[in-house]
This record gives sequence, structure tokens and C-alpha cells, in this order.
Amino acid sequence: MVVGDISTGTEVLVIGAGPGGYVAAIRAGQLGLDVTLVEKDAYGGTCLNYGCIPSKAMITASDLAYDASHAEDMGIYTKLDVNYGEMVEWKDGVVSQLTGGVEKLCKANGVTLMEGRAEFADENSVRVVHEGEGQGSETVEFEQAIISTGSRPIEIPGFEFDGEHVLDSRQALAMEDVPESIVIVGAGYIGMELAGVLAKLGSDVTVVEMLDSVLPAYEDDLARPVKKKADELGIDFHFGQAAKEWEESGDGITVMTEDEDGEVSEFGAEKVLVAVGRQPVTDTLNLEDAGIETDEMGFIETDDRARTEKDHIYAIGDVAGEPMLAHKASKEGQVAAEVIAGEPSALDYQAMPAAVFTDPEIGTVGLTEDEAEEQGFEPVVGRFPFQASGRALTTGHSEGFVRIVADEPSGFVLGAQIVGPEASELVAELGLAIEMGATLEDVAATVHTHPTLSEAVMECAENALGHAIHTLNR
Ligand SMILES: Cc1cc2nc3c(=O)[nH]c(=O)nc-3n(C[C@H](O)[C@H](O)[C@H](O)COP(=O)(O)OP(=O)(O)OC[C@H]3O[C@@H](n4cnc5c(N)ncnc54)[C@H](O)[C@@H]3O)c2cc1C
Repeated sequence: MVVGDISTGTEVLVIGAGPGGYVAAIRAGQLGLDVTLVEKDAYGGTCLNYGCIPSKAMITASDLAYDASHAEDMGIYTKLDVNYGEMVEWKDGVVSQLTGGVEKLCKANGVTLMEGRAEFADENSVRVVHEGEGQGSETVEFEQAIISTGSRPIEIPGFEFDGEHVLDSRQALAMEDVPESIVIVGAGYIGMELAGVLAKLGSDVTVVEMLDSVLPAYEDDLARPVKKKADELGIDFHFGQAAKEWEESGDGITVMTEDEDGEVSEFGAEKVLVAVGRQPVTDTLNLEDAGIETDEMGFIETDDRARTEKDHIYAIGDVAGEPMLAHKASKEGQVAAEVIAGEPSALDYQAMPAAVFTDPEIGTVGLTEDEAEEQGFEPVVGRFPFQASGRALTTGHSEGFVRIVADEPSGFVLGAQIVGPEASELVAELGLAIEMGATLEDVAATVHTHPTLSEAVMECAENALGHAIHTLNR
């Protein structure tokens, strides 16, 4: 029999096994639905294989190496000896432990796993194309489908990814050696996180950015401590520079950039990493055959129940638009599965956190002061510097601050911005506060363990109320 003859059916077809798709499939399985999950590459998607997890593993390892060799003021003297190959092996081990876990959890929840690339044949069926060995395709009919095909790095003209000289983030995380020098195009979170890793491991890092600051999506005072530390690490920044082309030179490359006056600059390095953003993977799905259109950027529009213009087809995660974050994809996956199962779930982005794992970290949730004002609130803002935190000083990392934005008349917490040690963890408490409709009084009245970084959150709420103990009040 030819493989193409096989035709199977499923209640819920999930396309793509990233943090959106596998979570949707597991949740749908828990709710008693018959689910098939199709993946063309690796379970866990970008996040587990090529994104969040490998980058955070490399951040931990490079921080450890850097901190250990910069602890003379604590009386610790080391001679750094990094075996990069072993570091990468450790990182790969973490990834495979997690991706294996995803596969097991899917199976344990009754999800049928299918390997191959899905493309729509019509509104109720897909062809699953098996590439490589055992080629061919099969048809899967579905009652409802969830599109979770994620995103890929944006390629800029003149910089085709070749894995050797011109790298995307995935290739940069899989290098066999630390390059002696690297040019990073783009000072967004992916570029800045990897710049920190490489600089801490001894690479000579140059960052070129078209705009005029690092992390342009974040408020200036949050980005400033990150830039300051990056300067200390010796990262060389060039703003207002658009990357134009590159050429081989000697045993490396030269990257040419242009400023707005057309003046050209040249930067020599061993490699260039292009991290200028990501685009949705919707162009390989035959979406027209399902009757679904994308916007001009390729994103699929959805309503607050994750439904596309076709009521029985859902879109979640990076394909459904910004913010392109793993926890947003997973939440949307849970909502889509629950809606399919007839539950009254809906999407609510009010308390969607975001974290940047630079040194220091940034964690944000909810509204900034400006956004609160624009939305008609009367914001009151509390601040607490980590310099005043006993715990921060004992960790040797006391840069940055906690800021809470609340509505003055009601006291409701509306948002928080943190830059400093463990900002990615600390922001969770304020996400819960927003979700629960907590006030500044609620946060301030909650006893926080001493000495912990989390006390900074409590003190920050007290500062907004005008009675912080360990800082001067407003
Ligand atoms: C370097 C880097 C670091 C990151 N760090 C963080 C972080 O710290 N925190 C965070 O929240 N986010 C982070 N992200 C973003 C995060 O990885 C994404 O937001 C998240 O993976 C989106 O999940 P998703 O399920 O929508 O898509 P993806 O994870 O991209 O998964 C989509 C899956 O669909 C599969 N697929 C595509 N087309 C088809 C098809 N036609 N048929 C079958 N399968 C298909 C793909 O192979 C892939 O496995 C990072 C990203 C990168 C690149």
C-alpha cells in the first residue's frame, strides 16, 4: 500500500508541538477529546529545542563562569577554565530531558503523536507530508484544528543564514566553540541575552542596532542597567546602524552597516549573528485551502477565544501575534482546548508577564505609568532600589529597582517593572496581585520572608503608600 492512501480521522488536530501546541494537545486530552498532534521537527518546538531553554542554560553556565572569576571582593580567586564542548553537552542534556518529558506527557494524556509536516487540503482535512525516509503523505480529517506552527527568525537582505559565517539564534546556540569575535545585529532581547553569554565566555562582541538604544521595547530606565553592565563586559555598541552586507575577509568576515546619512561603517569578526526579530510560520500551511487569511505580516487574527475566522479552526502562540512568548502560547493553547471542549474560557492579557534574562534581568507585567495614564487611571508609583535590599547586597547583585504602578484612588495594582537580580521570578508575585485585583495595601500587608529579594516588592508597595521603612518616601 502507498503511504498516501492512508486516511485517518481525529476530533482535534493540533499542528505544531511547541509550548502552544503540546499544551493545547495535553489539555484537550485531559478533557476527554480525541487528539492528534503533528510535529515536523522536534517536540517542544522553538522554546525547548532552540529558544528559551538552551539560551537560559547557556546564561546560567556563563554567569557561573563569569561570577566565579569576578569574586575577588568576596575573597575568591579563580583561574577560569571553560570547556565549551562540555558546557554545550550539559545544555543539550537539559533540552533532551525536557523534550522527552513532553512526548511522555502527551502519550500519558492519550494524545496521538504523528511526525510530518501538515498542510491544509480543505477546511476539514490536512495532508501530513513525511519528509526524508519513508516519504509520502497521509490525509487526516479533523472536526476542529489548532494551528500552532510558531515562528522563525527574520532574514535580512544580504545576510542569508549559512550556519557558518551568518548565524540565526538557533545556530548561535549550537556553535561548537566560542568565536573569538562576533557581530550581533539587533539589540532586542535575543541579541542582548546572547551578547551577554558570549562576552562572559570571552568573545569579543560588537552589537549593531538600527534604533538608538538597547532593548528598545522597554522603558529607558529598565534598559539602562543592562547597557551599563554590557559596557562593563566590554560589549561594543553602535546605534543608528543598519546592516547592509558582509564579505569574507582573511579567516573571518567584514560586516558593512550604514547610518541614516548613508555613511558606511565596517566591523570585522569571525561570525555575525542576526537577531532582528521573528516572523510567524504561516506560509507553508496552505491556509487559503482552509479559507483563512493572514495579515500583511503573516499573523493569523483570532478572537478572545483563540478562534480564527473559521469557527472550528483556532490559532495560538507566535502565529497569533505578539507578544511572541512561550507562556502566552501555552495559555492560549489551554484556552483553545477548553473552548473546544465547551468550557467558558477566554483570553485575558491584562497580567501577561515578560522577562528578559540579561544581566541584570528585566521583568514586567501589566501597565507602565504612561499606559496607565493613557487608559484614564490616576497612577501612583512606588520605587525600591535593590541597593537598599539586604538580600541583594549579600548576593553581590544589587543593581536595579522594583517599580509598582497602581491606581491612586482605588489602590489597585496595575503594573510592575523590575530590573535587577531575579526580576524574572519577582514579577510573578505582582502578576498574581493584578490577576486577583489586589491593592497596594494587600501587597504591603503581606509579610515577606527576611532576608529575601521579594521584600523589595513589599517595600515598593509601602513606598507607593508613603510609608516604606528602608527607603525615603515620596
Ligand atoms: C533564542 C530564543 C530565546 C527565547 N527565550 C524565551 C524566553 O526566555 N521566554 C519566552 O517566553 N519565550 C522565549 N522565546 C520565544 C519562544 O520560544 C516562543 O514564543 C515559543 O516557542 C512560541 O511557541 P509556539 O508553540 O507558538 O511555537 P514554536 O515553539 O515555534 O513551535 C512551533 C512548532 O511547530 C512546528 N511546525 C511548524 N510548521 C509545521 C507544520 N506545517 N506541520 C507540523 N509542524 C509544524 C515546528 O517545527 C515547531 O516545533 C525565545 C525564542 C528564541 C528564538
